[in-house]
Amino acid sequence: MSAVIELETRIEEAKATLGQDLVILGHHYQRDEVIQFADFRGDSLTLAHQAAKCHQAKYIIFCGVHFMAETAAILAQSHQTVLLPNLEAGCPLADMADLFLVEHGWAEMSEVMDVENEVMPVTYVNSAADLKAFCGQHGGMVCTSSNAENVLSLALTQRPRVFFFPDQHLGRNTAKRMGIPLEEMLLWDPRQRYGGHDERAIQRARVILWRGWCYVHHRFHPEHVMAWREQMPDIRIIVHPECTMEVVDLADEAGSTAYIIRRVEESPPGTKWAIGTEFNLVNRLQNEHPEQYIVSLSPEPSYCRSMGLITIDDLAHVVEGLLEGKVINPITVRPHVARAARVALDRMLEVSA
Ligand code: SF4
Repeated sequence: MSAVIELETRIEEAKATLGQDLVILGHHYQRDEVIQFADFRGDSLTLAHQAAKCHQAKYIIFCGVHFMAETAAILAQSHQTVLLPNLEAGCPLADMADLFLVEHGWAEMSEVMDVENEVMPVTYVNSAADLKAFCGQHGGMVCTSSNAENVLSLALTQRPRVFFFPDQHLGRNTAKRMGIPLEEMLLWDPRQRYGGHDERAIQRARVILWRGWCYVHHRFHPEHVMAWREQMPDIRIIVHPECTMEVVDLADEAGSTAYIIRRVEESPPGTKWAIGTEFNLVNRLQNEHPEQYIVSLSPEPSYCRSMGLITIDDLAHVVEGLLEGKVINPITVRPHVARAARVALDRMLEVSA
């Protein structure tokens, strides 16, 4: 028996023994060797809903990155424990905003306006629990790439401005799609006083975007779109909204991971796609839809190294640990942070329910 088959067998046996006590959640960007064991696959929003629903499980193993496991831990019930197979699996985008810098920015904004009544903080789910808590404490919300437009629309009916972190591109692409002109958006650079702007510019802005980005989606460029259009005029370009505005504007469609999957699944045989998102997902779509022509938008596959840190060995280690009564890599969130973050997450789940 090969080493991989032996690991697969051990995980299957451990899962069978643990039965309903265990549920494994897997993000679409996970390696094939890992995601094959997921009881539920999804993007951040689907998995957040799923984490909130699987009451029977005592253990939730989250095959994704740290902020996702933290979100699951916040939404879990008190009898449940969330485990992350590799604690090194963080999200570089999430790490671009921290509580100290966000609070500092909020304090600077409060010098030029009444922030509690005039600015709604909205954090992308790709953020640490204490930033979600910050939003909960200041009347704000969480969003994912699936529901960003609904969340931003609601936020702007409640307050005249949104402070959106940490992904500038999701914020800009979403606001632009909602018809907000670029002149009413402002890029907040946390390294500079007032984010690099004067007081009047801050007061004029409707959407204040944190200077963060995802390196996986930053690797797609307008030249890639142009090259495919020239080479294959009938190919459809579909990209994730974490790509830059220049790429999103040139693409035929932009949407969340769930949206990209749905579009491919709904399309007739022979459809041609160049997809601008993480390569594990593109590769899986290629394998699952041989009747369509599917390629990565960029010539070099763009992998998320953090998602790739979780291996089948890590999963086996954590699942078998449970059989021996050992809880390996539990994810905990301090109770007062979890309570406030839950408020912001619940507001989002209501919007997207
Ligand atoms: S793909 Fe980008 S946003 Fe998603 S986990 Fe990786 S670095 Fe973070």
